[in-house]
Amino acid sequence: MSIEKAISSNDVPTLVNWVGCKATEAGNRLSTLEVSSPHTNEIIAYVPISGYEEVDSAVKSSEKAFLSWSGLTYKTRAQYLLKLYNALTEHMDELADLIVKEHGKNKTEAIGEVQKGLETLEYAISLPQLVQGKVEDVSRGVQCRDERVALGVVASIVPFNFPFMVPFWTLPIAIGCGNTMVLKPSEKVPITMTRVAEISQSILPEGVLNIVHGDKSTVESLISHKGISAVTFVGTSAVAELISHTCTRLNKRVLALGGAKNHLVALPDCDIEMTAQDIVNSFTGCAGERCMAASALLIVENAKKDGAEGSSEKFSDRLIKRVVDIASKINPGSDQSPRVMGPIIDKGSLIRIENCISQAESEGAKILLDGRLQSEFVSKRKDTNGNWLGPTVILHGSTSDSAMHTEIFGPVISVYICESAQEAIEIENANDYGNAACIYTGSGAAAEWFTKRFRAGMLGVNIGVPVPREPFSFGGIQRSKFGVTDITGDGGIEFFTYRRKITTKWSVPVERSWMD
Ligand code: NAD
Repeated sequence: MSIEKAISSNDVPTLVNWVGCKATEAGNRLSTLEVSSPHTNEIIAYVPISGYEEVDSAVKSSEKAFLSWSGLTYKTRAQYLLKLYNALTEHMDELADLIVKEHGKNKTEAIGEVQKGLETLEYAISLPQLVQGKVEDVSRGVQCRDERVALGVVASIVPFNFPFMVPFWTLPIAIGCGNTMVLKPSEKVPITMTRVAEISQSILPEGVLNIVHGDKSTVESLISHKGISAVTFVGTSAVAELISHTCTRLNKRVLALGGAKNHLVALPDCDIEMTAQDIVNSFTGCAGERCMAASALLIVENAKKDGAEGSSEKFSDRLIKRVVDIASKINPGSDQSPRVMGPIIDKGSLIRIENCISQAESEGAKILLDGRLQSEFVSKRKDTNGNWLGPTVILHGSTSDSAMHTEIFGPVISVYICESAQEAIEIENANDYGNAACIYTGSGAAAEWFTKRFRAGMLGVNIGVPVPREPFSFGGIQRSKFGVTDITGDGGIEFFTYRRKITTKWSVPVERSWMD
């Protein structure tokens, strides 16, 4: 049954793979996993765990499609992408509803997610203008040119936190460059991309996009399949590292994006109101389940002055008070109203996040705002049995507290007061990850000082979620990324193509020597 029908009739669908533009029923042979609603923990779908046979049939279908798809011009493929863009835009609201249903983020965030994914598709429609190579006479009668050529069948393995956007970080540029793709959605949020496969069925040629559901065993079959030329992965760092090692050993091109621990630094000359609002948006947006979310706030106290101008209160006290005040006004919910935050993806993650808060407490940190106790979230959890947890602000007295360096991936921020800018930069630089970092200040010179010293791939000045939008590429460093290029933008083009270098010499026939 199609997702559309299942949803409208309130049925619990058993999802199917999409291979060669067809829904492939794997029958009773495959075991399934339950997909549960973060709002209520009710089962909303069953997702099959594909084995080698299903992976093999998807890869073979993509290999067959590659022969003709890669032979089309960039311009022709861009026309297919334009049709896909139009169809997905028409279905934007429906796709956003599916994201809310299976992931739990609020409807405004879900619409933003679809729009951001479509931006990469929009960028890929311009590939004919973007991929042009060089041509040069390198010697008398000898010319060199290079062309960007597709790699073959590529695999894309994606996480739960952006059911639509992260698949669209890879899909448009990969297929726009002439590759075909086998994509494995997260088993926690497999519905949205299954619906995308249904929508694209009448648009893309058979086998250009195949979707295979499953878990880690499916990933293992996929990445080690001989027919897969390149692998992109987005998820936790431990798995990213594993995938990167396996692919490197098999001589497959690999880009594996991992986790994050993003630091925001606030200086006393920042605009406190704007900064506090931005910090809260950063750590509570999508319930903190974003690899670009703020995770540690380092406040640089003005050591020379006790109180800021016109106030007897310390800068750190004023900023923390505003952060706590704004965060405490957030309500549980997933609709479009402002200041609502959705539930955590599943019970396991909820327990893990709550344990991180308890551990901070036992290490001596102060819980300034405790999401476990906020009355609206407590009653929502009781009423719905969903994974509701309110925003949490923790004040640490020591940088060795585990919450200061663990990726919590929930609506939790760790605050630490630094004595100097130097101390703040040392704390940021010491973390294992390197996705994002941000400085809040009113001074251009201070912003320059920090942006030159932060050890992260994506930096913000007075912006807490510094996601580079197309045409810029996305990617961190250290344990946030295993691989060389970035994803999206020109990094995506670099990853999904190789450069074919062609050197030509035409010898001039004797009778035409007058041409010299
Ligand atoms: P995850 O690593 O648990 O799962 C990601 C994908 O890998 C899923 O499709 C899953 O089925 C598969 N998988 C899980 N374990 C595996 C294993 N042992 N071997 C092979 N495949 C395996 O990640 P998640 O919990 O779905 O996503 C959250 C993580 O993703 C966070 O750490 C977050 O920071 C990270 N993330 C990073 C970025 C980035 O750009 N760096 C973007 C989004 C999310």
